[in-house]
Amino acid sequence: MDKAAEIDEIVKTLAKVAEDPAAYATEWKARTQRKVFGILPMNFPAEIVHSAGALPTLLQEDDAPITYGRSLLHEFYCGYTRSLVDQAATGKLAAYDGIFLVDHCVALLGAVDAIRFELPEMPVFLAQFTASMDEPSARPQISGRIGELRQRLEELCGAQIEDAAIHRSITIYNRNRALLRHVYEMRRSGRIDLTGRQMQALVKSAMVMDIEDHTALMIRLIALLEALPAVPSGQVRLHVSGHFCHAPRPELFDMIESCGVTVVDDDIYTGYRFISTDVPDDLGPIAALTRWYFDRNNNVPCSTRAQKTADWESYLGRALEANGAQGVIVLMPKFCEPHMLYYPELRKEFHTRGIPHLLIETEHEGLALEMLKTRVEALVEIIRRPALAGEPA
Ligand code: SF4
Repeated sequence: MDKAAEIDEIVKTLAKVAEDPAAYATEWKARTQRKVFGILPMNFPAEIVHSAGALPTLLQEDDAPITYGRSLLHEFYCGYTRSLVDQAATGKLAAYDGIFLVDHCVALLGAVDAIRFELPEMPVFLAQFTASMDEPSARPQISGRIGELRQRLEELCGAQIEDAAIHRSITIYNRNRALLRHVYEMRRSGRIDLTGRQMQALVKSAMVMDIEDHTALMIRLIALLEALPAVPSGQVRLHVSGHFCHAPRPELFDMIESCGVTVVDDDIYTGYRFISTDVPDDLGPIAALTRWYFDRNNNVPCSTRAQKTADWESYLGRALEANGAQGVIVLMPKFCEPHMLYYPELRKEFHTRGIPHLLIETEHEGLALEMLKTRVEALVEIIRRPALAGEPA
């Protein structure tokens, strides 16, 4: 098999896992006889579940139309939360031995209440992390919550979680994140041309599968990618931003890339935001996981957190200087309040810096791809013909 075909095969294996986390969780559980916990985005430290010997699987949006879930959550909840609740109502969360989350928005809290209502037997543990990062009380409070998570997992798994086990999990997850960041770096530099769909498969599968198995596949994949000659690209380089909690539909990336675009970087949750930050390995485990929560918001700020010294728009300005993107496509899930309320700040920054940009709102129920394509083509045209800059895309 040639290298390109091997790359394709690895990416397809990872994409298959990412497409059906419940199937993977069921198979893993049967194979290992260990527990599987569903975890929710965006701030939960998966390392703590891993250190208990269980599989942390980040619950993903399901492509299926929302049916029973309609009676549990209003239509004005985001697609991710409505899908999650629908999965609970239609028996798709049965593989999980419990659900753990750190809250980050009102919609997610509503979804958790609905899941508790629908699945009263399912252990659901919510840790409230302080969103106001500058408060002097924030660090001790978060350390306390992580200690409670550890205790709850010990009860559910029937064994004590040793500090050494958490350290080991931290090392394993840091290694995996470093490999994924390496792929991102290769893509930014133009060394490789993995598509948006393929990059999503790499990150989403890391959220779902046994992390050591994922790392083994990533090592093979990187060796193959490094052996391929670089392909020069004359395409427009774009940064994709936003899309909290769940993955944009792969066909959206296909459409964007069909317009003469290379997506060179992103800060979406199922992308660089997820892998941006390692957990320090020179602190006690609880202190290390607490630091990680703060470090992530410094590295890739999130509009669900409040911090005077970190903001998303400044981050984006720096990211574009570093990755050489010529414009930004902002992907915003419909009814994602933390994103909607912050978007004017981003837009102001794009105008101040003269960054061509386009806002695309995504919906669980589907996308008018042909219509969106015209708007992406207009953005590409503006970038290729700078005289048009300032025209709305
Ligand atoms: S942050 Fe946005 S996408 Fe995530 S749960 Fe809240 S509303 Fe939904």
